Amino acid sequence: MQFTFLGNAAWLDFLNTAPRDEGRTVDLLSSPESLRRWGQEAGLLGSEIRDGVDETWLIRAKRLRGEFRQGADSLLAGQEPPTGVIKAVNDQLIANPLRLTLHNQAGHWHLAQMPLRPHADVLLTRLAIDFAECLVSGRVKDLRRCARSNCVMLFLDTSKNHSRRWCSMELCGNREKAAGRRARGAAGSA
Ligand SMILES: [Zn+2]
Repeated sequence: MQFTFLGNAAWLDFLNTAPRDEGRTVDLLSSPESLRRWGQEAGLLGSEIRDGVDETWLIRAKRLRGEFRQGADSLLAGQEPPTGVIKAVNDQLIANPLRLTLHNQAGHWHLAQMPLRPHADVLLTRLAIDFAECLVSGRVKDLRRCARSNCVMLFLDTSKNHSRRWCSMELCGNREKAAGRRARGAAGSA
């Protein structure tokens, strides 16, 4: 299975590295190298970074992903993330290996996060920042789970009229519609 980037937020794309396929959870982060590849594809880790790409890093990343999962479950249930989740995010923010600098590019202001040292840890901190910014900005109110039963993919619904139901039309929308047609067809012939 390929990585998908349909969450409209890095921390959700990170959570979506454990999708469900035929009812079974699949973990796409099977090795430190696969995590590095994900970080690169997500645009959160430079291709040159190899320092710190090890099993410990993978374990810490999966722990953070577990915290994000708890946070997302609470938010979907209309509750605030548990204090343990906030602590885990804060621990990652305190360990910040990034330096922030303000830039103006073609009339737009950007807060750039430059790594102080070329280490794989920058990935986990960037994910923690993304989670934090999602809460701070209030964008988290658009958090949704894919409407197809058995799909655990999460996304921020940024569609104009807040009508996005599926993680993707190709993955779930079309399958669900086909299942609906089959069900109606069966009912019609009964
Ligand atoms: Zn889905």
